[in-house]
Amino acid sequence: MEDALARLKKGTLKLYALEKELPPEDAVRVRRTFVEEERDADLAALGAFTIGIDRVVRRNIENMIGTVQIPVGVAGPVQVNGEYARGEYYLPLATTEGALVASANRGASAITKAGGADVRVVRDGMTRAPVFAARDVVHAKEVADWATAHFADLAAAAETTTSRGTLLSVAPYVTGTSVFLRCAYDTKDAMGMNMATIATAEIADLVEAETGARLIALSGNMCVDKKPAAINLIEGRGKTVVAGVRLSDDLIQRVFKTDAATMVEVNYRKNLIGSARAGALGFNAHAANLVAAMYLACGQDPAHVVEGSSAITTVEATGDGVYVAVTLPAVQVGTVGGGTGIDTQAACLRLLGVAGGGEPEGTNARAFAELVGVGVLAGELSLLGALAAHHLARAHKELGRG
Ligand code: NAP
Repeated sequence: MEDALARLKKGTLKLYALEKELPPEDAVRVRRTFVEEERDADLAALGAFTIGIDRVVRRNIENMIGTVQIPVGVAGPVQVNGEYARGEYYLPLATTEGALVASANRGASAITKAGGADVRVVRDGMTRAPVFAARDVVHAKEVADWATAHFADLAAAAETTTSRGTLLSVAPYVTGTSVFLRCAYDTKDAMGMNMATIATAEIADLVEAETGARLIALSGNMCVDKKPAAINLIEGRGKTVVAGVRLSDDLIQRVFKTDAATMVEVNYRKNLIGSARAGALGFNAHAANLVAAMYLACGQDPAHVVEGSSAITTVEATGDGVYVAVTLPAVQVGTVGGGTGIDTQAACLRLLGVAGGGEPEGTNARAFAELVGVGVLAGELSLLGALAAHHLARAHKELGRG
């Protein structure tokens, strides 16, 4: 290790090459020591971790120097009446935002007292959309028509790359001489971004060979990955989830210290009118908080909070209370692959009973998506309740201050 450190300092060994010479734990320690000495920084806290890193340094991270730790709390038990997730759950939430877990816990408690949240995955398809250059607009239409007419050939090509994924649809979008093919896949228990990308490369080869269009980029930004976009809200990306709960007047009063009419009005003026006036893509109170906390705890790609948080919250008067629902058009989650196998994240998935591949395949990822929907519903209920009762500032003063 001393030798490796000396060579790093001399510049004869590259930082990224340490794992080729040393076991992962040693490589990480030497790299951290090198950076500490180079920058006169104390990084000892990053070196105290419990996760096994053999697989992590091969699959999840480059130039690893340690880990940062995020506290994890639980909200629950929350009663979930899903198609895939059924029963009482403790939702793991990784966050440094004081009051968030307490807030979600209050929402979870209301849901459970109300008999549980109904939740459904109404659409499921991970997308990748390559962009091709056609010669002119006539050729562009020919390319789009060819893709539509040859769906079976495109599916056969795509599915040579995966034993589980299936191509669901190919939607062509022509813009001048650019042709985008938005390919949607059933990726089973994988979030599917790698799977869809690898499969779409085969599609792109076939389209180029058969139509003469030139592939410009395997991702043409109509996918749309990790950017806020209306197409994901309208067409969905990953799993589209709806969750709802019926709250009685009595429950609203007991848990939230407010009433149905006030909750309806807060949602109408804040989440609907306020969001519309702001030109927001999300019509919700704080879906991103719950999505981020569950994604971090459970090994999801945190950049997918961009799409996952574009939720719409609705509150309808029922005569004897309210029906509150959240609609999340783009929940991009998996229970295999990505960061889901890291020890601490895998433990959180196991807490939910959804770690690894489902039986049948795809059911674990859908169950997890349902739980994300219920988590968001709990968060929305609680914040709407706090705003309706004018309790928000007080809760943050008590729980969120250092
Ligand atoms: P992945 O880590 O590539 O793993 C998916 C693999 O798991 C597939 O090869 C599949 O094998 C296998 N698998 C085993 N059991 C499965 C089951 N029950 N259901 C589905 N697959 C199963 O995962 P991914 O979800 O495709 O990609 C996730 C990663 O992509 C994350 O790390 C994320 O950060 C990253 N990412 C990539 C891009 C990109 O453009 N490439 C963009 C954004 C994020 P078979 O294919 O043989 O079935």
